[in-house]
Amino acid sequence: MTIAPVAVVGGGLAGITAALALAEAGCPVTLYEARPRLGGATYSFRRGGLTVDNGQHVFLRCCTAYLGLLERLGGSALIDLQRRFDVRVLGAAGRSGRLRRAALPGPLHFVPALARYRLLGPGDRLQALRGSLALSRLDPADPALDTVTFGSWLAAHGQRDPVRQALWDLLAVAALNTGVEEAALGPAVKVFKTALLGRPDAADLGIPLVPLGELHDSAARAAIARRGGAVRLSAKVTAIEPGPAVVVDGVRVRASAVVVATRHEQAAKLVPAEAAPGRDGWSKLDASPIINVHAVYDRPVMRAPFVAVTGSPVQW
Ligand SMILES: Cc1cc2nc3c(=O)[nH]c(=O)nc-3n(C[C@H](O)[C@H](O)[C@H](O)COP(=O)(O)OP(=O)(O)OC[C@H]3O[C@@H](n4cnc5c(N)ncnc54)[C@H](O)[C@@H]3O)c2cc1C
Repeated sequence: MTIAPVAVVGGGLAGITAALALAEAGCPVTLYEARPRLGGATYSFRRGGLTVDNGQHVFLRCCTAYLGLLERLGGSALIDLQRRFDVRVLGAAGRSGRLRRAALPGPLHFVPALARYRLLGPGDRLQALRGSLALSRLDPADPALDTVTFGSWLAAHGQRDPVRQALWDLLAVAALNTGVEEAALGPAVKVFKTALLGRPDAADLGIPLVPLGELHDSAARAAIARRGGAVRLSAKVTAIEPGPAVVVDGVRVRASAVVVATRHEQAAKLVPAEAAPGRDGWSKLDASPIINVHAVYDRPVMRAPFVAVTGSPVQW
């Protein structure tokens, strides 16, 4: 009897990674993607003769699962990873600061940058250092941290508005996709401890050197096929049935297992209630939208490859 393939539903980065891992482990696998391309939220499209990227524009060196995926897709040479975290931060009235890690062991590597950070006065710099130290003592796995916002914790630890804006909010928006007032303390501690207070090289920034479609879509299709897996594009799964099986274009396809790698709202509709009794709660999870804005200039406007901005609706 032939083993039915594992069905992976959703061809974003999560689904691609799952399909590749299964194929590498010798499991027959079929990846179903509703759209005509892989990549999900990260993709490229053509407009006015330009290739425009949407979605993920930067990653950090501590994104080891993502870097591992790129390596398996043959994309390691198609990215640029900073040798040392270094970002210029623009503030109001033409002021700017620089956050650059020093050649010191973690968590001391950002101390010199914070001590010299020109967007903050001396008192706030000291508070920022104290806040970092207090944050480093928290355990992100402590469930109590999920009952408190990052903003209220910062306020309780003497982090005044200037520090929140020029430091904590700047990094929280980039890493947590929401500002300090809305972010729960638990994920904030996880992100800050992993990226900034642990390994010194964890926060080094990476950017793609080729369009995201090239980095993820075509490379993933080729990599999965090379390992014997199948990819079905424009194939929307409309139901998952016990058995298990997936229904695609009205046809029931038997599967030996199903991996769901869609957004939570879609997963809540697909996963059978008996497989996930808590499923109805998933759709109550909120979303936090993020938008890439592309501006095409007729001449160079800055020398730095990228900058961060505080007190602005555009952050990075
Ligand atoms: C504008 C923007 C900027 C971002 N910037 C960054 C960044 O700088 N750094 C960073 O780390 N992250 C960034 N992100 C977030 C990152 O892109 C996402 O977290 C990541 O791509 C999500 O991958 P995923 O596979 O979990 O989900 P998705 O990419 O959402 O993939 C889910 C896939 O499932 C498919 N699907 C859904 N339902 C079905 C169905 N019924 N049948 C078949 N297929 C289905 C969808 O079509 C989709 O392709 C950004 C996101 C956006 C939108």
